[in-house]
Amino acid sequence: MKNISETRSSLPRSGIREIMDVSANIPDVIHLEVGEPNVNTPIHIREAAYAAMNEGFTHYTANAGLLSLRESIATHLLKQYDLQVKSDQIVVAAGAVNALAATVLTLVESGEEVLIPDPGWPNYEQIILSQEAIPKRYKLNPELGFVPDMADLEQVVTPNTKAIIINSPGNPTGGVLNEENIKEIIDFAERHDLYVISDEVYDGIVFEGEHLCPMSYDSEGRVISIFGFSKNYAMTGWRVGYAVAPQQIAPIIAKVLEPLISCASSVSQKAAEAAISSSQDFVDEMRDIYKGRRDQAYKLLEEAGIKAYKPKGAFYMMIDLSDVRTNEENLALALLKDSGVAVAPGATFGSSTKQMIRISLATEDSKLLEGVKRICNFVRTNR
Ligand code: PLP
Repeated sequence: MKNISETRSSLPRSGIREIMDVSANIPDVIHLEVGEPNVNTPIHIREAAYAAMNEGFTHYTANAGLLSLRESIATHLLKQYDLQVKSDQIVVAAGAVNALAATVLTLVESGEEVLIPDPGWPNYEQIILSQEAIPKRYKLNPELGFVPDMADLEQVVTPNTKAIIINSPGNPTGGVLNEENIKEIIDFAERHDLYVISDEVYDGIVFEGEHLCPMSYDSEGRVISIFGFSKNYAMTGWRVGYAVAPQQIAPIIAKVLEPLISCASSVSQKAAEAAISSSQDFVDEMRDIYKGRRDQAYKLLEEAGIKAYKPKGAFYMMIDLSDVRTNEENLALALLKDSGVAVAPGATFGSSTKQMIRISLATEDSKLLEGVKRICNFVRTNR
């Protein structure tokens, strides 16, 4: 029999999945590895979905998504960020990851390079490799709050580079780009003629400062923004996200989605419409809860003399375990086996964070604090 695709079968797996698999066989594990809200989708959003189903709203929608949802998104972006976009610039997909993959497919030919952050969300690399393009890492500077190291960007860009992916608020770092950072990145993109794919799925979760949309600083139509519903509205399982693109690019993203998904789920789109067009109190309340957890967890780590990077947004915290002495090369695996805490291994986000781990603050208070205490004990006994 002929071989299956070498490109696809050699795709790297996320190191988080490995921890999840091993932890499944260990009793009494505290799970801090997965990035999803610990609460259910708010009732008003669920009710909109029940109503849609009961009204027979169970058919295909347009490839780009429901017009009423896209109009609600445009209204939301105007109100929230003063961002003026038309509904035909918005393409709804099956989650932000799907919108991202379709955007990369739209912009990038095989063999072209895409710049991605180190550390960064592992799926960027998977998306780019699966399209036979070349991911190239640029460093984020931990001492400056994990914002891009502009000198490093100048080192890694080449004439073969097509796009740069940026992510603010950032996973796994919690880094948030300020106006100066965004202007520098847009200037860099203009000088090297790059598209900017701006992943903003954590836009509602900013603890310090505010979320700024890079698209507001773009006068040339280079920025494509990716937003989601999973994180802000606790809607991970509904699979809805969207891309906002210049008017000539958006229809191509929608066309690319057609053979992949046809359209996002009609019922989920109705739920998303309810989420974005009603009160945003849930988003604000959850942000404050994550912030409280961040402060408590950080305090425990600080008291134990463990270096952690206090996130400015999103719901993760990076912890430096370079002091720990263990025979296990994978620190997250050592921690899991020794102390029964599952965390995301730093190495899965890039080469700069091999000695770090990431914990999720989207975890029930008592479990989070118990997990952090176990991490503190693990470090105390192994350094
Ligand atoms: N971008 C980042 C940085 C993420 O962390 C995630 C999910 O973990 C996504 C995109 C994908 O979100 P969605 O559930 O909307 O596909």
